[in-house]
Amino acid sequence: MTIRLPSELVAAGLAPPEKLADLARVAERYAVAITPTVAALIDRNDPGDPIARQFVPDITELTTTPDERADPIGDDAHSPVEGIVHRYPDRVLLKLVNVCAVYCRFCFRREMVGPGKQMLSAQQLDTALAYVRTHPEIWEVILTGGDPLVLSARRLGDVIKRIAAIDHVKIVRLHTRLPVVSPEKITPALVRALKAPGKTTYVALHANHPRELTPAVRAACARIVDAGIPMVSQSVLLRGVNDDAKTLEGLMRAFVECRIKPYYLHHADLAPGTSHFRTSIKEGQALIRALRGRVSGLAQPAYVLDIPGGHGKVPAGPGYIDMCGDAAAVVEDINGVKREY
Ligand code: SF4
Repeated sequence: MTIRLPSELVAAGLAPPEKLADLARVAERYAVAITPTVAALIDRNDPGDPIARQFVPDITELTTTPDERADPIGDDAHSPVEGIVHRYPDRVLLKLVNVCAVYCRFCFRREMVGPGKQMLSAQQLDTALAYVRTHPEIWEVILTGGDPLVLSARRLGDVIKRIAAIDHVKIVRLHTRLPVVSPEKITPALVRALKAPGKTTYVALHANHPRELTPAVRAACARIVDAGIPMVSQSVLLRGVNDDAKTLEGLMRAFVECRIKPYYLHHADLAPGTSHFRTSIKEGQALIRALRGRVSGLAQPAYVLDIPGGHGKVPAGPGYIDMCGDAAAVVEDINGVKREY
């Protein structure tokens, strides 16, 4: 059973009884859910366990800093109709559901997701799809939320088929954490539902620590990839979870081993009550530099930052080249030595 209540956290040994009152205060504000798979991964003897840190609520979440905001990446500013975010010309987000199988303590949409915040109504979905249909510049539709894979295979399959029927849409991408937190739910029926007739489906998997890629999770991802659906990864750089080169290296290698191309390493957004998770951009750049020297190009994600206010995503990685005039340059190699070009 998924753990949702502070008393259940205590009963499962995920929090000490003396923290019950604090946990209740946090749970009143932000949704809590920990699946059996995630609960089993947590090392109860490690007070700094990187899995627990991602999912077990903490009183620090009630401390917000002045720069934090309810809508940190500015979805609302680019939402022409309910459920659609149209920030970049060639693609839209379609937020089908506002629920997830787990609730990450650092979630950038934490003010929008949670139980009771259900899916788009049939009419809202019609309107959202009509928007896509009448905007021929939309090449890619990204199903997100919430986690779109929590829908039944039938419902998800219906939506994907309706999107695939729009001539100018060529790519359907789904963002999900489900294969990691409930791998048993990646059933053959669900995998079949992901296929977009005549179009290409991509699945972007959210995972942040190599321990999340268990044998069962790897098998769930293999079911998706074996069906001919390419996968990419998304991770968030999180203090106390993966803010060291060895952990990031293990995570990226694990993705590649699972045939998941490392795609994004997100700088943590300014979501309310998440300052204890954020590193500085400088720290992020140093980690990316370290990764460059340690792992294959296949295992390199793009370190990206969403500019607060809805101004889009930009690469945030370190620079290696200083131009000297129009043609000459000083280039830094992976050991930090400057070379002339
Ligand atoms: S799975 Fe994604 S949307 Fe859901 S709580 Fe975690 S970060 Fe937020």
